[in-house]
Amino acid sequence: MQGSEALAGETVDVPARLRAVEERIAAAVAAAGREPGSVALVAVAKTHPAEAVREAIAAGHRAFGENRVQEAKAKWPALREAAPDAALHLIGPLQTNKARDAVALFDTIETLDRPKLAAALAREMDRTGRRPACLVEVNTGEEPQKAGVLPARADEFVAACRNEYGLPVEGLMCVPPLDEEPALHFALLAEIARRNGLGRLSMGMTADFETAIRFGATHVRLGTAVFGPRRTPVR
Ligand SMILES: *Cc1c(COP(=O)(O)O)cnc(C)c1O
Repeated sequence: MQGSEALAGETVDVPARLRAVEERIAAAVAAAGREPGSVALVAVAKTHPAEAVREAIAAGHRAFGENRVQEAKAKWPALREAAPDAALHLIGPLQTNKARDAVALFDTIETLDRPKLAAALAREMDRTGRRPACLVEVNTGEEPQKAGVLPARADEFVAACRNEYGLPVEGLMCVPPLDEEPALHFALLAEIARRNGLGRLSMGMTADFETAIRFGATHVRLGTAVFGPRRTPVR
């Protein structure tokens, strides 16, 4: 597979990988009978140095994902100067005490999953007037160690985020269990989005994005396919 060819430390041709992965996305979109351009690639830059991101920016790519607020805070102020129109997505768990940094740094927060965090984000958005789009993370596999609201609680939580906290909830996100068929999880997420009138579906990673596109993903989050193997282990 594209993603696993290069070894860590080896030079990775980011522009070539971006082109290859955009082609695979376009092919999956066509195979699913969906509109061309209906699936956006979020290039997941976690653990990769700013230079790798700059190569992607130079190749014209603009949507990126980071999973840690601290890492984004260190990398992105300089990168924003290179690409003021970049769209940065938070895809990792967010602690309530980092809500301020998250609202300042990110354009989309994909990991909204509990009332305390919803309250903190709402407070920060009211204070600053900055309103990053929010996606509710759903723990579709009901894994105890994993973030995300349980599927049975998702409708109620989405309603609370919209009505009580006034957050700009635009969609849902999930990370299926590693050892299960992802299609069932993608179908479940799409169904929860449909019945809540939510248009954005962030699902699919390097190993399973073509399946996610078949089940309606509007955003796929690809790290390895774009940047090669990660440099350091990620928690
Ligand atoms: C790291 C990460 C990705 C990208 O994973 P790859 O398998 O390298 O494409 C996507 N989503 C989340 C939430 C991640 O943490």
